[in-house]
Amino acid sequence: MTKAASAAAKDLAVAGVTGVELAWADNNGIPRSRIVPIKGLGPAANHGVGVTSLFAVFDTHDAITYGHSGLSTPSGDVRLIPVVERLRRLSGQRTLAWAPARQVAPDGSPWPYCQRSVLERQVAEAAQQGYELRAGYELEFAVAPAGSPDITSAPGHRGPAYSPHALIELDEFVAALLHDFEANGLAINQLHAEYGPAQVELSLQATDPVSAADDQLLARQTIHAAARTHGLRVSFAPVVSAEAVGNGWHLHTSLWRKGRNLLAGLPGSAGAGYLAGLLRDLPALTAITAPSVPSTMRLRPGYFASAYVFWGVENREAPLRYVPDTELLGADHANVELKPSDASANPYLALAAVLASGVAGMADELTLPAPIAEDPGTWTEERRAAAGVQRLPSTPAEQDAALVASPRISAVLGHDLLGAFRAARESDLKWAAERGTDEIVAEHLWRY
Ligand code: GLU
Ligand code: MG
Repeated sequence: MTKAASAAAKDLAVAGVTGVELAWADNNGIPRSRIVPIKGLGPAANHGVGVTSLFAVFDTHDAITYGHSGLSTPSGDVRLIPVVERLRRLSGQRTLAWAPARQVAPDGSPWPYCQRSVLERQVAEAAQQGYELRAGYELEFAVAPAGSPDITSAPGHRGPAYSPHALIELDEFVAALLHDFEANGLAINQLHAEYGPAQVELSLQATDPVSAADDQLLARQTIHAAARTHGLRVSFAPVVSAEAVGNGWHLHTSLWRKGRNLLAGLPGSAGAGYLAGLLRDLPALTAITAPSVPSTMRLRPGYFASAYVFWGVENREAPLRYVPDTELLGADHANVELKPSDASANPYLALAAVLASGVAGMADELTLPAPIAEDPGTWTEERRAAAGVQRLPSTPAEQDAALVASPRISAVLGHDLLGAFRAARESDLKWAAERGTDEIVAEHLWRY
């Protein structure tokens, strides 16, 4: 691998690249990185680059919590190893290349807090059972002029929602996104002006889970860089104001066996167990896929963000929106969209948890209840109770309780990482307890 890395570094240096960014995502969904000079890529691929092990217990506001017993002192180091097969030159930052990084112990052995390795393990376990997951993220974000303290006082576009006229205000930025995504090897399905204030959405094409998580990180970097070039800044935060529609990072997945999409033809098809597995674990799953204080603010009824535990066919209020195959679209098209998912989730952990619950649903041969076409948020409490529709955890404390109560989702992270993850959540919660809603929103706007 060092040979390949050194050869790649040589080519990049000739092309004018001076450094390579080694990136990973922490337990708050925040990308972190180290840049090494391009000549250092080969050595980094061999020995890694040292960083403190405390990144596992950073909270969303860069405070280090010593609340997890495995990482309770300032001592300790891990090595970041670039994944050279995924190295790209950054189109929007011409002198830099980018590679996702694995975190390993200083002796090269696996480090239990490495989120990317957690997903790799889950993918391998699913493969052993004959399953393959395909996954793609939809990214919603809000755009404002560079230097703007918020979104609402100076929105980057003023709508109308889904209108080409809204995007004309962002014309050069949009052109840069289309160019840079292609150049950075990120395939997108579409881009549009979304419903929320100054909101834009683009969706990434489905791929294997580890690539989908890598791509989600690279997509953020690509969008931030294009925004800077065009005098803009973007917010990926789950909410950009207390009232407005939030930014969902919906996760579309489908389960495959022997080249066949098991989600085609639901509910009567082989993939019913996958969707039923997601439904069974949804409260605990959401503690991983929408884990921040602003995440719980986003998950309100009536915002197409999801608030209740149920599934529906093309139901925009459902946390699990089944997107069926049709004669026009073919069997490959069928997938399920997880709506309680946002930028504050670590994408590797989110995908690992989704995969584990879906595959467990298959193993347990779970069956699906009937889909719901309405918005249960408009029902009476009695009607929801009669239909067995429960509220998704709506506070961080409820999320934590759901996580701890789920041996399956807890086991995905493993004892050590689960402890660090929960310590970060607790630290965030303490931080939020001393602040009002507006300050909480404002302090998360530019974190992701
Ligand atoms: N912005 C909504 C959310 O918070 C999603 C809107 C849509 O369905 O695309 O998830
Ligand atoms: Mg959307």
